[in-house]
Amino acid sequence: MTLAAQIIQKSMRADALLGTKRRLFFGERPGLVVGLFHNVFRNETDLRSGLANPLEEMTLDRFKAFLWEWHNAGYRFVSVQEILDGLDPMGQFILISFDDGYRSILDILPELENYKAPAVVFITSANIETDIGFWPNTVYREEMARHGSKANASTLIEHLKGKSTDQIQRFICDRYGYTALRPRGEIDRPLTRDELAKLSHHPLIEIGNHTSDHADLTACQTDECFRQIVTCQDSLARITGRKPVAIAYPYGRFNADVILSAQKAGLQLGFSCEEGKNRLPLNGMAFKVKRYDILGTMGQAEQCQRARSDMTLCWSITKYLLHTIIKYRDRAREQKTGFGRVA
Ligand SMILES: [Zn+2]
Repeated sequence: MTLAAQIIQKSMRADALLGTKRRLFFGERPGLVVGLFHNVFRNETDLRSGLANPLEEMTLDRFKAFLWEWHNAGYRFVSVQEILDGLDPMGQFILISFDDGYRSILDILPELENYKAPAVVFITSANIETDIGFWPNTVYREEMARHGSKANASTLIEHLKGKSTDQIQRFICDRYGYTALRPRGEIDRPLTRDELAKLSHHPLIEIGNHTSDHADLTACQTDECFRQIVTCQDSLARITGRKPVAIAYPYGRFNADVILSAQKAGLQLGFSCEEGKNRLPLNGMAFKVKRYDILGTMGQAEQCQRARSDMTLCWSITKYLLHTIIKYRDRAREQKTGFGRVA
C-alpha cells in the first residue's frame, strides 16, 4: 500500500472513531447514505491480474460484508424511485450505486437478491454501444505491463481525467496502439447491449445516466454538456425501453450549468462524489446527492461506522493536502519531462 493510501485510511479511521463517539453522545442523525461502487472483482486473483484498474479494490466477499454491515446497522435498502416518491425524514436508508456499467454487476445480483437490496447502475452509453472498454483499465494494464508501476499508472490516469474523449483516445492509440482500447475479457469489460437490456428488467435494478463518453461535464461547453447527457438518455431508452431519471456526474464533477442541462434533459436526481449523509427530504439538494466511495482496502465495519457518523473532518483536511501536493508534483514533473502531456 502506498504512503498516500495509508494516510487516507488513517484519516478515515480517525473520522470513524471521532464520529462514533459523537454518535454515542448525541445520537445518530437520520438520512440517506449512498454507496458508490465501480468494478467488483470475483476474487483476489482477478483483482491482482493486472488486466483491470483495481479502483477501490472491491471483491465479491467485501461486497457481501458491506451488505451485511448495513443490514445489521438497521438501515433500509432503498431504490431511486423510493427516494423520488419520498422517504421518511426520520428514517435511516441506504442506496447502492454502481458507476460506468461493468459486467461484474451480473455477479452481484444474487447478493442483492439475498438482502432485497435495490441498486442503480449508472451507464456510460458509448462503452455499451461500441467495443471500446473503459480507458482507465487500458492505461493501468499497459503501464503495468511496460513499467510495473502502479504509481505511474495512477498518475497518468489522474492526469487524463478532464481531457476530452478524443484527446484520451488519441493519447492511448499513440502510446499503446488502437487495439489497446478493447477490453481484455470478463474482468474489465462493460455490459453488452443484451446484458443491459435484460438487467434493466430485474426488479431490483434501475438504470441511470453516466453520460455518453464519461465526459467531465464541467469541462464541456453548454451544448456539449447537454449532448453528452441527452445522447446517453436516448441510447439507454433504445436499449432498455425506458429513459433514466437519475444521473451520476462523471468524476463527480458538476456545476450550476451541468445541473441545468440535466434538468433540461428530464432528469430528476443528480449524484456527486462528495461524501456525506443526505438529509431528507432532499429538496434543493436533489441534484447534489452525496455518495461514499466504498473501499475494498478498508474494513466494511469501519466504513459503515464512518458513514453512519457523518464525520468527514480528518478526511477532508487530508484530501485537500494530498490534492495540493499531487497537483504541484504533477505540474513540476510535466514541465520537466513532458510526461503525460496530451495534445
Ligand atoms: Zn464513472
